[in-house]
Amino acid sequence: MSEAKQRDEIARLAKSLFERGLTFGSSGNISVRLDDGWLMTPTGSSMGAIDPARISKLDLRGTHISGDKPTKESFLHTAMYDQRPNAGAIVHLHSTHSVAVSCLHDIDHNNVLPPLTAYYVMRIGTLPLIPYFAPGDMDLARAVSEMANRHHAVLLANHGPVVAGKSLSDAVYATEELEETAKLFLALQGMRTRPLTDDQVTDLRKRFPTQT
Ligand SMILES: [Zn+2]
Repeated sequence: MSEAKQRDEIARLAKSLFERGLTFGSSGNISVRLDDGWLMTPTGSSMGAIDPARISKLDLRGTHISGDKPTKESFLHTAMYDQRPNAGAIVHLHSTHSVAVSCLHDIDHNNVLPPLTAYYVMRIGTLPLIPYFAPGDMDLARAVSEMANRHHAVLLANHGPVVAGKSLSDAVYATEELEETAKLFLALQGMRTRPLTDDQVTDLRKRFPTQT
């Protein structure tokens, strides 16, 4: 896809996420890998009103070369790309249900959500929890980096998900699947539930090897 089309696609999908309440205020950010660097949504911008021409462009060394200044959370994206050479795009949101799950006391830090549906297993698989760090703390980048070689999706404690995909639409769909599964998980709290069995999960992994 040409850079111009990628820019339009970022604006279109960011607006769609915003209009459906998956992101709000100036939170959330998106990046796409290009042959000669990266596109990233600008700092302080609403995902509902991204101007394709003002999207930040970074060169292969991560230096800002054009457009508005990139998101302050750009280090989350570069930490993930560094470990995942096949990742073509990354989405990071503060989506409510995913954040709610990230604040729960009794969750498995190695894999936060149970395999409630086949599509969750196919699009996310396992989801580790990254410990809480203040915004901008470079230890957060280090913690993401340590997990990113084994996981294309991670959940930042008391903060939100970071999800890589082969393409931007893949990353967006996976982030939406995660948010909806978090919503299901919360709706089922206190109820006896029947997640997929280990055998069912293994079978799905064979049929649909995880992308990126
Ligand atoms: Zn964030």
